[in-house]
Amino acid sequence: MIKIRNIHKAFGDNEILRGIDLDVDKGNVVVILGPSGSGKTTFLRCLNALETPQQGSIEFEGAEPLKVDFAARPSKKEILALRRKSGMVFQQYNLFPHKTALENVMEGPVAVQGKPQATARAEAVALLEKVGLGDKIDLYPYQLSGGQQQRVGIARALAIQPELMLFDEPTSALDPELVQDVLNTMKGLAQEGWTMVVVSHEIKFALDVATTVVVMDGGVIVEQGAPEQLFRNPQHERTKRFLQQIR
Ligand code: ATP
Repeated sequence: MIKIRNIHKAFGDNEILRGIDLDVDKGNVVVILGPSGSGKTTFLRCLNALETPQQGSIEFEGAEPLKVDFAARPSKKEILALRRKSGMVFQQYNLFPHKTALENVMEGPVAVQGKPQATARAEAVALLEKVGLGDKIDLYPYQLSGGQQQRVGIARALAIQPELMLFDEPTSALDPELVQDVLNTMKGLAQEGWTMVVVSHEIKFALDVATTVVVMDGGVIVEQGAPEQLFRNPQHERTKRFLQQIR
């Protein structure tokens, strides 16, 4: 279980997150929806300590427990420990342009985790095969389609063997015909039991794959529940309005 409590994040005077609480059970897939500017990306970045909240805590239970309390001004070491718990997949892939697919996937294990090259290479090849890119390992990002680049991005995030996978609108930059490949890769990960938090407006994906759908608006969670129930019978006015807009 990952326990997220009372996350507050402001940029200057602009309060973006106003106290977010969320529990994510091991193996669960949480899909976060909400209007533009509601704070979804900021929340995801807080989970990976790419943004530092002013208040709140994130606790990973399990074999290597970790609790980071942001109000207590965590040390650099604690922040790094939190960062290593999760792998982030970005909207714009964020691959190193001058590295091949294989080198992109090997980078984290070798440079951050200090893994031997040969081990990292073998694991990276296996991950690229898993995301359907076994025949593309030596190509550079510019030689790959957006969907293929995003699958390299997924393999790269998996390579550090995180406890939690974070996806920030992973298909929103893709041409429509490339979206499904990426969603299928993510569905496969969910079926393997990965714990995932996904910001996405792909309703069908949420219905098929999510254990919980969370609706954010104005920096708070306005509603959460099982996908069927939430989509069929939304309780909150803001959820109803938002679902009408995206359907
Ligand atoms: P979208 O669906 O459009 O991606 P979102 O729900 O993910 O929106 P965020 O990207 O989290 O929303 O942004 C929420 C607000 O926080 C926006 O008003 C944005 O301008 C602001 N914001 C985000 N990052 C920063 C930053 N680094 N500095 C200042 N303001 C920021």
